[in-house]
Order: sequence, then C-alpha cells, then structure tokens
Amino acid sequence: MTVQRDDLASSTDDAALEVWIDQDLCTGDGICAQYAPEVFELDIDGLAYVKSADDELLQDKGATTPVPLPLLAEVVDSAKECPGDCIHVRRVSDRVEVYGPDAE
Ligand code: SF4
Repeated sequence: MTVQRDDLASSTDDAALEVWIDQDLCTGDGICAQYAPEVFELDIDGLAYVKSADDELLQDKGATTPVPLPLLAEVVDSAKECPGDCIHVRRVSDRVEVYGPDAE
C-alpha cells in the first residue's frame, strides 16, 4: 500500500504524529515491519528503520517519519509489542512521546 497525499497533508496539523526507532535496542525480530510495512522495514544489517512517505529507508540516528493516520493503529501496536521497547511515537508539535517506552 502506498501513502496517499491526504495522509501527508494530515501530518501538518497539531495532532500529527511522527515515529522513530532506537536501533541500539532493536532485536531485529521484524514485528513492526509485519504490522506496518509502509512505515517500517528491516535493512540488510538486520535492524528496523522507518521509511519516508516515498518509501526511502531513513538510516540517520533518530530519523523520524510522519505516521499516516490510516496506519496509526498498526504503528501503535508495533510500539506496544516491540520486544526492544525501541519504537517511539511522538507529537510533531511539541515532540512529546505519546506511545512507546518514554510515554507517560
Ligand atoms: S518490533 Fe522493535 S525490536 Fe522488533 S524489529 Fe521492529 S523496532 Fe526492532
């Protein structure tokens, strides 16, 4: 499935979320890539990375990508079930983590 233009537009409002992965803690099991392959992908190094809306793997440390609203449930489930506790979902507006190990 590809990310639609409407999903990108939604990332500009106050409720917009973004997600990043701490590869130092990633176990490489691939749960996230199974749940939301449009957002997460395993690289040949065996670790998971987020992808840009145009499907490019983002490998800079702490790189974020917008969470497309139609995939919010899949991304949140990935963060909840990530065995490495290393998927962080935060608000774009104030960078507060809302799902993941640092969420309140
Ligand atoms: S679910 Fe977590 S530990 Fe597993 S591959 Fe994805 S980021 Fe890594």
